[in-house]
Amino acid sequence: MNILIIAEVNDGVLSPASAELFTAARAISADADINAVALGSGIGSSVAILSSLSVSRVFTAEAQNLTSALAASFIQKAVAESGPGVILMTENDLGADLAPQLAVRLNTAAVTGIVAVRVENDQAVFTRPVYGGNALADFTIESEPQIVSIRPKAFAPAAEVGNHTAEVFELAAEPPAGVRVLERVAVQQQGPKIEEAKIVVGGGRGLGGPEGFAQLKQLADLIGGVVGASRPPCDQGWWPESGQIGITGKIISPDLYIAVGISGSSQHVSGVSGSKTIVAINKDTEANIFKVATYGVTGDWKKVIPSFTAKIKELTGR
Ligand SMILES: Cc1cc2nc3c(=O)[nH]c(=O)nc-3n(C[C@H](O)[C@H](O)[C@H](O)COP(=O)(O)OP(=O)(O)OC[C@H]3O[C@@H](n4cnc5c(N)ncnc54)[C@H](O)[C@@H]3O)c2cc1C
Repeated sequence: MNILIIAEVNDGVLSPASAELFTAARAISADADINAVALGSGIGSSVAILSSLSVSRVFTAEAQNLTSALAASFIQKAVAESGPGVILMTENDLGADLAPQLAVRLNTAAVTGIVAVRVENDQAVFTRPVYGGNALADFTIESEPQIVSIRPKAFAPAAEVGNHTAEVFELAAEPPAGVRVLERVAVQQQGPKIEEAKIVVGGGRGLGGPEGFAQLKQLADLIGGVVGASRPPCDQGWWPESGQIGITGKIISPDLYIAVGISGSSQHVSGVSGSKTIVAINKDTEANIFKVATYGVTGDWKKVIPSFTAKIKELTGR
């Protein structure tokens, strides 16, 4: 089995989720021959990291202004060189666009946002949440290459295996006509990205305004978390749009998700159903969020959050 991994590099930093793709690759085939496309800006040192994850060949695709269309052009060249049976990428802003585009270009099929894989009768079976995260469905792909995008944090990152030297090939591709990047505006980011955070505290319309988010930020800082929001607070400008969680925002899979004043719409829940533990704080005992929560607190967040924060301060001495 030959597997091609799409590893994103942003300004010289290899995406942490890339190492998770290797774990998924090994789950598909323990002795797979793994090649990688290092895609993005400032690839240099990422080649050594990919090498240490026992990649046979690294295809480098250096691009300052990467679009999914340009990424697909690069990857098509790597596919022509390496003939993979499976292509794995991360389900994020790029991957969500890239997987279906590649499937069309390569005349095959894609399964997006998977959270697990197993092998049955020599066939990889991919599992992903469906119906707003209320059910899990299994998919197989009959054509090759099988294109699969993987939710961040669904798999543990693979450990580096030490001194291994991959062959390196430089790819070249012209930006496709019709898509032109006019400007890039960097999102002001403090701490980890919400998709990569281990702890996320999400605020909803129930917070009633931006002031509530200041309290969530204080709590998140104490426990090493990142603040996000359901869609209404982002629409209202209470919290930046880059922190929106859900089907039209970020898909997150943290170890702990604390949902505060969030009702649990299917559009929101589908973005958090990969969380290992969900704690919901809501004053409505009937709120849908309690159906997916591991632990629920019924009450007014204005009382619950300050006492929760005070208790953590007491326990941690911070
Ligand atoms: C095409 C489409 C895409 C969408 N994409 C997304 C998406 O990506 N992400 C997303 O989140 N939504 C999305 N939505 C919107 C979604 O349908 C819901 O409207 C939204 O998720 C509701 O947000 P909410 O839970 O914060 O607000 P509400 O549903 O209004 O819930 C507020 C909750 O706060 C509780 N509350 C109120 N006051 C307090 C208090 N003092 N203490 C404790 N609890 C309190 C209430 O009981 C209630 O449960 C999308 C909708 C559409 C149509």
